[in-house]
Amino acid sequence: MRFHFEQGPIRPPSESRSLLLRFTRNCPWNRCAFCPVYKGRPFSRRSVGEIQADIDTVRAIIDDIKTLSWSMGEGGAISAPVMNRILTDPAITGCYRHVAVWLYHGDGTVFLQDANNPIMRTRDLVAALRYLKEKIPGITRITSYGRSATLARKSLWELREIHEAGLDRMHIGLESGSDTVLQFMDKGATAAQHIEAGLKVKEAGMTLSEYVMPGLGGVRWSREHALETARVLEAIDPHFIRLRTLRVPPDTPLWDHLQSGAFQTLSDDEVVREIRLMIENLHSIHSTLTSDHMRNLLENLEGTFPHDKPKLLAVIEEYLALSDDDRLLYRLGRYGGALRCVDDLPAYRSRLATARRELEQQTGKPIDALIDELGRQYL
Ligand code: SF4
Repeated sequence: MRFHFEQGPIRPPSESRSLLLRFTRNCPWNRCAFCPVYKGRPFSRRSVGEIQADIDTVRAIIDDIKTLSWSMGEGGAISAPVMNRILTDPAITGCYRHVAVWLYHGDGTVFLQDANNPIMRTRDLVAALRYLKEKIPGITRITSYGRSATLARKSLWELREIHEAGLDRMHIGLESGSDTVLQFMDKGATAAQHIEAGLKVKEAGMTLSEYVMPGLGGVRWSREHALETARVLEAIDPHFIRLRTLRVPPDTPLWDHLQSGAFQTLSDDEVVREIRLMIENLHSIHSTLTSDHMRNLLENLEGTFPHDKPKLLAVIEEYLALSDDDRLLYRLGRYGGALRCVDDLPAYRSRLATARRELEQQTGKPIDALIDELGRQYL
């Protein structure tokens, strides 16, 4: 038995250890000025029947892999020889491999793709989640993205039902707590909706991650962005705060604002100061802050409030205390993929200085422009 999906339920092999499934397609809002993800691709709901058919397919793949294992004398185990066979056989397709990698390496987590699965009717989402848990053994956690405007419209009772059906984690793109910034970016949610949605998700029993976008206020609203985002986070007290620094993708409305001068981005150092202002104004939360993305300058900006707040501020001060030259080399090394934190700099300083000279000579561009280009590769 072999499977091939042109438009399958599962994305091609990825580094994700989660099983990736689609309950909806793309984003129903599809308008945020900075969003590079969906670029006008139409949103559509998938029917419960369609989702269940995908889940049946995943189940059939799992059964097929186990049969293969038995035929190889591996007793049904997803062992190294079985994986080797699957990953080297050109007849075995991407989706098949994705399920195999999930079984072999995964921790039983499932990630529902695209931007806003809670937009499904509650009874449909519950039915799909229950079917998933019933048919696929070993699931330990199911995570989804959700939009605050949608989640705020669901009742607490509905969100509890969704959680009880299996949805454990909700990732929400807060981006900013400033209504001015949210409106300028056409985010389609207000600060009040973000607070309402976040509190409901938590009360329903789900683990909540709020994604914050340092730099989204640009030069004009940087202070308001930091202070209002801190205010909203204080009100929600999410389990996780995840930083995703703004990089302006070409072909987005925000790129046009940048070209017209209606929006001015912050420098990397200004973004770091903005994050400092936000952290300084987080007083009573218990969230864990993570900076787990290459587009963030300081990956080790990680800790749990209130205990780690001094440590978080120290990470920022360590960077800001570097000389101008070292900050530049650090940024070059960070976005070039060599460095994770300031402590890594001494080991790379001379190589980065050479790379800087060579890059400037070869391209004729100023180093700041080159660093900006490097940063934009992580969109
Ligand atoms: S809600 Fe999220 S996915 Fe949808 S357009 Fe905005 S940023 Fe993009």
